[in-house]
Amino acid sequence: MNGPEPVLKEAVIRMYAAREEIHPREVKGRYAASRWACVWLTQVLFYGLPWVRWNGRQAVLFDLGARKFHLFGLVLWPQDFIYLAGLLIICAYGLFLVTTVAGRMWCGYACPQTVYTEIFLWIERRIEGNRSARIRLDRQPWTAQKLGKRGAKHLAWGAVALWTGFSFVGYFTPVRQLGHEALGFSLGPWEAFWVLFYAFATYGNAGWMREQVCKYMCPYARFQSAMFDRDTLIVSYDAARGDCIDCSMCVQVCPTGIDIRRGLQYECIGCAACIDACDSVMDKVNKPRGLIRYATENALSGGWSAAQVRRRLLRPRVIGYGLVFFAIAAAFSGALALRTPLKLDVIRDRGAMGREVDDGMIENVYRLQIMNTAEREHLYRLHVDGIATASIADEDLVELAGASTRAVPVRVRVQPGRAAGGSHPIRFTVSALDDPSLRVSEKAVFIIPK
Ligand code: SF4
Ligand code: SF4
Repeated sequence: MNGPEPVLKEAVIRMYAAREEIHPREVKGRYAASRWACVWLTQVLFYGLPWVRWNGRQAVLFDLGARKFHLFGLVLWPQDFIYLAGLLIICAYGLFLVTTVAGRMWCGYACPQTVYTEIFLWIERRIEGNRSARIRLDRQPWTAQKLGKRGAKHLAWGAVALWTGFSFVGYFTPVRQLGHEALGFSLGPWEAFWVLFYAFATYGNAGWMREQVCKYMCPYARFQSAMFDRDTLIVSYDAARGDCIDCSMCVQVCPTGIDIRRGLQYECIGCAACIDACDSVMDKVNKPRGLIRYATENALSGGWSAAQVRRRLLRPRVIGYGLVFFAIAAAFSGALALRTPLKLDVIRDRGAMGREVDDGMIENVYRLQIMNTAEREHLYRLHVDGIATASIADEDLVELAGASTRAVPVRVRVQPGRAAGGSHPIRFTVSALDDPSLRVSEKAVFIIPK
């Protein structure tokens, strides 16, 4: 068949959309105020805690070198890892509970990614101006003015990031010592690495990555929808009201750049900036607030009142998470309150079986690892029982400073003929002379040669 040759066209199909720079508009309102309250609260705690003193030392210190964790009056050792595990489980269930009731409340208000992005955005606004000024600056060629503004912004971001990295490392190295070393440019290699690493992560995540961390990197964002149900509070647009004037303010303030009018989207971090923006628009056009509001799917579809929404709060899923949360929290608090600040490990000297010593007694040798996990020093008495005539052949008083440990070699002797040959259970007891409640026991075996 004759005719024109078919024209072959090539089309480039992009598998990944290029990131569009998001410049969220500043928003004011009750939810923005709550978010800033969270920023202040979390950051005053995070930056301030390493500087708090307690009994002459840093109140909160993970002393990795000495393998001790100081938490105000509490000293935790590697053996107390169970408490850390308990704390993590409590946090996880707390998060599940909050998510089931109120959706991504954690993400929108208290997650470090949100908090630092908020701080970095605040700096950006102070230096580069409001949303339109920042968009204009993006499009401008590189002039001295643009260079100056961008340079100042990155310097300020860098300073906040470095201070954040320094504060983070201050939880693991005494912060005053760290401060002196940093001022004298004499930080150790590990300290310098972690300060810079944490600073770099803060600068990168809050300055550059921003919403991409929530959209692509955060694992919690992936699975939390499994905890949602039709009674979970989410930021919702009430399309049935028909009051939208299509001003796009809700989109302009959104830190993830989405339009909440299209319904619930996985990118929404529940920050409620769109609620504040829309409420202020509704005020101006004399319409009731709440065109965008916290609502549940059931409330929106059924036109429920706030009281009806509240009544659905105590549903089986919430009660389940709540019960587990409070049970674990109670068990954790109880275990912590009843914890004896004294630990004992007994290791029998396996190199030597029972042997006969000069006066004809049978002797076994042990090593007692005694840990004083209290804040102050104590004098302890060692005692052994389990076989008649068993006694300690060494000094039976041991003094230990607060938050310290000592390995004490102990020789136990038994008169021959009072017990048959073979192994016999015995028990070591360590008790503080000045506090009868400080008392621990540990089993061991005593071997009498046959
Ligand atoms: S801010 Fe409110 S009125 Fe404006 S576009 Fe968004 S939903 Fe509509
Ligand atoms: S849609 Fe609203 S609540 Fe969701 S991230 Fe955007 S501004 Fe925040």
